[in-house]
Amino acid sequence: MTDTPSRAIGRKSISATLKPRELMTDTPLLAGAWTAQIITLFPQAFPGVLGESLTGRALQDGLWQLQTYDLRTHGIGKHRNVDDTPAGGGAGMVLRPDVLEAAILEARSAAKGIMPLVYLSPRGRRFDQTMARNWARMDGVTLLCGRFEGVDERVIDHFGITEVSLGDFVLTGGEIAAQAMIDATVRLLPGVLGNAESAVEESHSGGLLEHPQYTKPALWQGRPIPEVLMSGNHAKIAAWRRAMSEQITAQRRPDLWAAYKAKDAT
Ligand code: SAH
Repeated sequence: MTDTPSRAIGRKSISATLKPRELMTDTPLLAGAWTAQIITLFPQAFPGVLGESLTGRALQDGLWQLQTYDLRTHGIGKHRNVDDTPAGGGAGMVLRPDVLEAAILEARSAAKGIMPLVYLSPRGRRFDQTMARNWARMDGVTLLCGRFEGVDERVIDHFGITEVSLGDFVLTGGEIAAQAMIDATVRLLPGVLGNAESAVEESHSGGLLEHPQYTKPALWQGRPIPEVLMSGNHAKIAAWRRAMSEQITAQRRPDLWAAYKAKDAT
């Protein structure tokens, strides 16, 4: 297997007709753009769905950029081994600390500004909108995607890596979690959402879940759109949406509702 250089995806100078996968270059980081660095055994999985729609357009426009670091290129020996059996026995394989170290050092040497180093892990703190907001305020993030049984614990200790989870379930690898977290973060960067897709009034932005949405036709399967939304009375519409937001949050997420009420009381 030959060495493949680490890839950068998303540069200002590229024509919008190219697909993000075709934009990969090994040029240095774009100064100033929010950067997601991904350490993975599957660099070809990126940008994946992030190359579509608003995040894809923003990537092409250089509002953010993606750098993948292929773990395999740091593998050991002819077969570029990246994993070995767990010390103490048991099922599966564990990613080797020396291989991970080489990949992490490669990524971190290219990192600019404040970029947290994160291992995607079901043991980590659960990712949420507040974390997305915090990441969006930084210069980027370095995400380490595990595979198999995960990574040698010493790597986490040595580099002081933060573990972050997508939720209380187990994935086969960190790549899907990485794409979910990058999506949630990138859409908060200035200029990524147009006016029409404002992040100000959506679920989890003000502590409430979003009100129901409707569109044409006005009558579908015998179900009309709520009359107030057709009234043209903007004050009444805003009040209705607010009331629905509160009702849905209270019903579905007592935890969010309690936090919202507590904040209101102060
Ligand atoms: N043996 C581990 C799970 C390994 S799953 C354990 O029991 O904790 C393989 C890889 O998938 C992990 O290294 C991690 O990078 C990723 N992964 C699995 N579930 C995840 C989750 N909920 N959030 C983020 N990453 C996850």
